[in-house]
Amino acid sequence: MHVVVLGAGYAGVTLTRKLEDTLPPEADLTIVDESDTHLVQHEVHRVIRRPSITDAIEVPLESLFDRAEVITARVESVDTDAGAVTLDTGETLAYDYGALCLGSETAFYDLPGVAAHGHTLKSVADAEAIREQALDLLDSGEPASIVVGGAGLSGVQVAGELATLASEEGASERVDITLLEQQDAVAPVFPEAFQDAVADELGERDIEIHTETAVTEATDTAVATRHERTGETDDLDADLFVWTGGIAGPDAMAGDRPVVQRDLRLTDSTFAVGDTARIVDANGEAVPASASAAIRAANPAAENIAKLVEWELAGGDGFEPELTPFRFNVPGWIVSVGDGAVAQVGPEVLTGGAAKALKASVGAGYLSSIQEVQKATELVGEEIEA
Ligand SMILES: Cc1cc2nc3c(=O)[nH]c(=O)nc-3n(C[C@H](O)[C@H](O)[C@H](O)COP(=O)(O)OP(=O)(O)OC[C@H]3O[C@@H](n4cnc5c(N)ncnc54)[C@H](O)[C@@H]3O)c2cc1C
Repeated sequence: MHVVVLGAGYAGVTLTRKLEDTLPPEADLTIVDESDTHLVQHEVHRVIRRPSITDAIEVPLESLFDRAEVITARVESVDTDAGAVTLDTGETLAYDYGALCLGSETAFYDLPGVAAHGHTLKSVADAEAIREQALDLLDSGEPASIVVGGAGLSGVQVAGELATLASEEGASERVDITLLEQQDAVAPVFPEAFQDAVADELGERDIEIHTETAVTEATDTAVATRHERTGETDDLDADLFVWTGGIAGPDAMAGDRPVVQRDLRLTDSTFAVGDTARIVDANGEAVPASASAAIRAANPAAENIAKLVEWELAGGDGFEPELTPFRFNVPGWIVSVGDGAVAQVGPEVLTGGAAKALKASVGAGYLSSIQEVQKATELVGEEIEA
C-alpha cells in the first residue's frame, strides 16, 4: 500500500507529518516537491524589506520527516483515476491513496502584458526581484510610481512592505504607491471590520486605494484600468508593477482548481488540500485560499486517508469507513501592513503593537508546530524588528 503526497507546502507538510504518526506500519509514504525546502509562504513578502528573514522561513524538507521518503522532482501530471504521477525525472509513481497539495499559480486571465510586465510573488526569488527593482527606484532620487494589482492577503502585504521600504529609504515623498482591487473593498473575502482596519492602515502609509477597479492591460511603464461600475478607463504610470490579482490551479493540473467537498476527496483514492482545491466545508462555506485553511484541512484529510488505508489493509470488506468532514473554523485573520498589522480575533479588530505581536506569534507558532523552534525564534526577532 503506497500513499503519495504531492507538494510540501502547508497542506503537504501538515498532512504528511500526521500520516507518519497514523498510517499502519506496512503502508509506504512518499512526499514529492520540486524544491528541497518548505517555504513559510505567508511571510515571503517580508523579504522585500528584510531579506535576512529568508533563513527563518525556509525549512529543509529532510529535517521535517522521519518516515516519509522525500523525492525532489517536479510533478508533470497526475492521473487521478489511475493513481499515477508523472515526474520530470521520467519516473512514474503509482499510488493507492494520493493527496494533491501543489498550491496555486498566479492567474493572469489573459490580460495583455500583465504576465510579461507584472512581478508575481510566490517565492523568495520573486520577493528579491521586487526588492531590487524597488530599491533602484527609491534610491534614484527621481519621482516614481508603483502599482500593486490585487488587494487580497498578498497584495495588501506587498503594498505595505513597499510603503515602509520607501519610508526607510527616505523616499516616501517622491514615490506614489497605488493598490488596485476589482471588488468593492480591500481584503475582499474577509469580514468588513477587518477590511476597514486594513484600509486605514494602508491609508496611514499613503497608499492610494482604488477599489472596483480592474486591470485591463500592462506595459513596461503603465497599467491600464477600467472602473467596474462607471466603465471609466485610466492609465496609471507604473515604474514597478506587482500582480497579485488571482490564483489558478497548479500547472501539473493544467491550471484547474477542482472543487472538493467536505471529506476533501476528489476521486475515490485522491484527495486535494490547500490552494490547489476549491474547498467547500461541512457548513457549505467556500473556504478562502490561505495558509490557515491549508493547515486546518490537512488534518481531516490525513485522518480520512489513514482510515481508508486501514480499512483496505483489513480486507476492505463491507462499507467504506465514515470519513471525517472538514469544518473550517479560524479564530481570526492577521495581516501585516509594513511596520504595522491588523488582526481580527473573534469580533474584535486589533492594530498596533498587539496586532504585530499576534502576527509574530502565528508564524512562530506554525514553525514550532513543525518542531522548528530555532527558526521560530529567528522569525519572532525579525518580525519584532519589522
Ligand atoms: C505574499 C503572500 C502573503 C500571504 N499571506 C498570508 C497570510 O497572511 N495568511 C494566510 O493564511 N495565507 C497567506 N497567504 C496565502 C498562503 O501562503 C497560501 O494560501 C498557502 O501557501 C497555501 O498552502 P498550500 O500548501 O496549498 O500551497 P503552498 O504553500 O504554495 O505549497 C505548494 C507546494 O507545492 C510545490 N509544488 C507546486 N507545483 C509543483 C510541481 N509541479 N511539482 C512539485 N512540487 C510542486 C511547491 O514547491 C510548494 O512547496 C499569503 C500568500 C502570499 C504569496
